[in-house]
Amino acid sequence: MPSSEKLRILLIDDEKVIRDGCERALASENYEIHHAENGNKGIDQLKEDVFDIVLLDLMMPGMDGFSVLKWIKSNQPWVMVIVITGFATVAKAVEAMKQGAFNFVSKPFTPDLIRLVVSQTAEQRLLVSETAKLREESHLDHATIAKEQSRLNSIFSCMEGAVMVTDHLGTVVLHNPAAIRMLEVQTDPVIGKPLSDSILDQGAQQMVSEAIYKGSSVTREFPPGTISRLFLRARCAPVRVDDGKTIGSVTVFEDITTHKKIDQHKSEFVAMVAHDLRAPLAAIVQMIYAIQMCAAEDNERRTHLLNRISVRIKDQLQMIENLLSLSRLETGSLVLNLEPINGNEILSQVVETIQPKAESKEIELKFEPTQEPWRVSVDLDQMQVVLTNIVDNAIKYTNNGGRVTVSASVNNSLGRISIADNGIGIATKDLKNIFDRFFRVKGKDTRGITGSGLGLSLVQKVIEAHNGSIDVESEPGRGTTFIVNLPIAEASS
Ligand code: ADP
Repeated sequence: MPSSEKLRILLIDDEKVIRDGCERALASENYEIHHAENGNKGIDQLKEDVFDIVLLDLMMPGMDGFSVLKWIKSNQPWVMVIVITGFATVAKAVEAMKQGAFNFVSKPFTPDLIRLVVSQTAEQRLLVSETAKLREESHLDHATIAKEQSRLNSIFSCMEGAVMVTDHLGTVVLHNPAAIRMLEVQTDPVIGKPLSDSILDQGAQQMVSEAIYKGSSVTREFPPGTISRLFLRARCAPVRVDDGKTIGSVTVFEDITTHKKIDQHKSEFVAMVAHDLRAPLAAIVQMIYAIQMCAAEDNERRTHLLNRISVRIKDQLQMIENLLSLSRLETGSLVLNLEPINGNEILSQVVETIQPKAESKEIELKFEPTQEPWRVSVDLDQMQVVLTNIVDNAIKYTNNGGRVTVSASVNNSLGRISIADNGIGIATKDLKNIFDRFFRVKGKDTRGITGSGLGLSLVQKVIEAHNGSIDVESEPGRGTTFIVNLPIAEASS
């Protein structure tokens, strides 16, 4: 036997001489032999141990060979059965083979015959077990490969970045679904066609050729309008095999539109802050100079200049306050110190603060309080910043000689503050964006009006932190009304 492991054989025969004869005949071979003297004992042994071959006497008292054969076929079908039949009972042997026996020997038999039959059966047993093992291994391999492949496919399909793979001639051999979306590819199918069919931009094609030609990675950025409507960053890497030969390229495209917008906002913001902090300071320095030089004796002029200085300084302070509050809101470190305050009082203070600015533009700034005091539970500093921003905007975006009315009312459990102006108004298309950070309406009416685009986004966040809401209605050329709703404080608070 070629196997290093011994094949295990069980001899089930009631005649001891046959059992011993068989054992002797097979002793020189590489078998491990066990005996059972009847069918029942044979099955007991089969239940306890694993056997490869059973030599089975068909004619035994008690449980006969056919019953044992039946048990083996239904419980241990891998066991090869050789039946031993009496002389002139070949028909029985044939019947046994029909029922699943592999071979037979008829008594009396020579040692050579039994060796031959057992050896043939052993070979078959070995063959069957090797085949089963191979089948199992190949099944496992296939399963592992299939699993690995489906895992890679899922990763590839789920990747947010667009991936395009080409061969060394620039023909697309693979891409993921994101590539079609992000690169706005119209070709169908993409695979098997030149990359230039899917990506019209020449810069992108050059990038791939360069990576393949140089054999090193190339990174490029593609602004909107080149490959697609998005701002893309691409990294194209050559694909090399073991001998160093380049067989293609893999390009990963990343959508950096948002990053670019944030970058742009940041630059605009830094420029704006630098400008908005410097310009009023320069004006203040000039006004102080004017006071020193020529207005020292002129009381009226001095008062006028001091008022203007005070307005500019308040503007500066408000802007710095906005920046600080927004940064506190963003870092989550803004803590509201809530206290019950009469809404009329806060509003009249805000109106009073902004009155000089209104006067400088000859704008009529009116406050219409409720008759009865109404109390809201608010953080006084934050609420002042919020209301000052809205009223200040109303003055800022209303032409000289206009009108701004701040009014309060109470409706059920809500305190309602309305800030209405008859200024330049806001176009419907811009209304939905005015609470966005850094958003400013750009147009001829707003040209020359400075601002950060931060005020309203801060206003909205702070009001929401007070469980309130803010709405806006506007008509270009006719004016704008902001409505702030704040929950009325409980009587006990
Ligand atoms: P800014 O610092 O530019 O005033 P805001 O966040 O306070 O920033 O406001 C965002 C934009 O909303 C402003 O740039 C302006 O275009 C518009 N806006 C705000 N309030 C008014 C208003 N009362 N009338 C017209 N436009 C306004």
